[in-house]
Amino acid sequence: MMKEMRKIIIGANWKMNKTPQEGVELVSELKEQLGALGDMEVVICPPYPALLPVGAELSGTDMVLGAQNLYWEKEGAYTGEVSPGMLKACGCEYVIIGHSERRHVFGETDDEVAKKVRAALDEGLKPILCVGELLEEREAGKTEAVVKRQLEAALAEVSAEEVSEIVIAYEPVWAIGTGKASTADDAQRVAHFIRQLLAKGYGNEKAEAVRIQYGGSVKPDNVRAFLEQPDVDGALVGGASLKAAVFAELVKNSREG
Ligand code: PEP
Repeated sequence: MMKEMRKIIIGANWKMNKTPQEGVELVSELKEQLGALGDMEVVICPPYPALLPVGAELSGTDMVLGAQNLYWEKEGAYTGEVSPGMLKACGCEYVIIGHSERRHVFGETDDEVAKKVRAALDEGLKPILCVGELLEEREAGKTEAVVKRQLEAALAEVSAEEVSEIVIAYEPVWAIGTGKASTADDAQRVAHFIRQLLAKGYGNEKAEAVRIQYGGSVKPDNVRAFLEQPDVDGALVGGASLKAAVFAELVKNSREG
């Protein structure tokens, strides 16, 4: 499969921003500014309390709903957690898993990430699986080793039939929220490495079907350079997804190839 056959996917990770009302306003402005998306996907990932109203505001548009996290159990005594089935019932199609803030602020382990990926797939949610190295790991030349460890752990229980349901977001931790994006060449190098790992595990054809995003200080003026790379099929966007005009420009720039 050629890159052209993989649909571009732009994710908006709002993190812990926007009340339900603010989220609805943002999407309402986005709808006015974006119009029809054409052959690409835009996934809006609000905080939990905004999922339902934002999902309702998205209905009838080309944009779809995603969550930022989940817990792997179906139900029970897990105070503060949210199950895959609950996200599905709120209309989520995607769920971000293993974001660097989950891993590094909340101490999420590779093993927990793997359980979350498995639980999402079991519920018919598509994981946006985040991987990426810390600055000190990069400086020690360990980028590939870290990405390999994270990827292999997360995909340990994922079959060849399921792997194309997963979107992989390569997000170098030092580039997230810092304004210091990776170079497009570096993003391509790691995205290619990820695709090679997928090919080893699942064969070439399956690996070619998986979409790989770059994330880390993506803005309207640099998104195109990432998307022009042969192994980069989209972007996961934090800060630049919080203002309608900025995000609309970013989405427009990503589809003008
Ligand atoms: C993110 O939250 O995944 C992200 C990449 O953030 P930012 O775009 O703000 O760097």
